[in-house]
Amino acid sequence: MYCVCKEHVELAIDKFVDEYEDAPDLVDLRTTTFSAWKPPERCEWCEEPAVVLVV
Ligand SMILES: [Zn+2]
Repeated sequence: MYCVCKEHVELAIDKFVDEYEDAPDLVDLRTTTFSAWKPPERCEWCEEPAVVLVV
């Protein structure tokens, strides 16, 4: 799974499809809270805030 900024959502989807050969689910980190897990604050590939979880 990838936590990415909005600029890198497409890259994350591409990598996910390459790796798992399946379409990912996209979760908006700004509107979702997790009880047992705290998402990283930064994008996987840059310094922008992570806003989408690709899983
Ligand atoms: Zn990014």
